[in-house]
Amino acid sequence: MRRIILIALLGFTLASCASQGATPPSGTLRIVAAFYPLQYAAQQVLGDAAASVSVLTPPGAEPHDIELTPQQAGEVADADLVLYIPGFQPALDAAVEGRSNALDVTRNIVELPGPSGGTDPHVWLNPLNMTAIGAVIAERLATTPGVAAHQQAFSAAMDALNAEWKAGTSSCTQHTLVVSHDAFAYLAAQYGFTQEGIAGLSPDTEPSPARIAEIADLVTTQGITTIYYEALVDPKVAQTIAAETGATTALLDPIEGIVNGSSADYVSLMQANLQTIRTGQSCS
Ligand SMILES: [Zn+2]
Repeated sequence: MRRIILIALLGFTLASCASQGATPPSGTLRIVAAFYPLQYAAQQVLGDAAASVSVLTPPGAEPHDIELTPQQAGEVADADLVLYIPGFQPALDAAVEGRSNALDVTRNIVELPGPSGGTDPHVWLNPLNMTAIGAVIAERLATTPGVAAHQQAFSAAMDALNAEWKAGTSSCTQHTLVVSHDAFAYLAAQYGFTQEGIAGLSPDTEPSPARIAEIADLVTTQGITTIYYEALVDPKVAQTIAAETGATTALLDPIEGIVNGSSADYVSLMQANLQTIRTGQSCS
């Protein structure tokens, strides 16, 4: 019964977060986040401040290729602050061009090069980059009461998560991560892994038969036991390679969005990812 109520409440919260056109009371900061991790960082930094943090990518959707509805474009134009990562969502890049309310949250992050030019936008999978994102948001909202203290607490939580990951991955014997798309470069760099993405930087890219064969070969020669798939993307290619090589598959979440109805958050998803990695990468 309690579980049902929680789910119902969560459904309501998500619905209200994702709702368009509802006018928050005056004096409330209107913040629009491009996708889930930025929404999470903003909520942590704002704490109980009078703010509404909406998200452009609805729960259950994959954020790379979102299109904005006219209503969302209006929301972007009217917001006090729009949080985004340039190069991640082209439709949003176009919508915020030249707007002074847009904040590039990667401003203080040294971005890794993308596999085929440009930079890799998947910065949020290193908790210390989440700290940097929180700091950039807090700097912009410095006059909002409570933000400095909440940012400190968020930073401490991300430090703790990073320490948990460092300890949990210190003894892994398999260092190659075979993942469904190239979302994990920052995580790999932080914790001593090498990423091999089956698809490219975007999950919608169909991998070529040559790439699938190359990955299957790598899995066999390196004795890789686990191929990671993700929640919001069809796992069939990962399953095909696993079936071909005798490897198993496991869910490793790039945290690009929240699965519809899930009560998980960034920290709990990262902790679940750590347990998955510890098993899949033979960490003692
Ligand atoms: Zn991605």
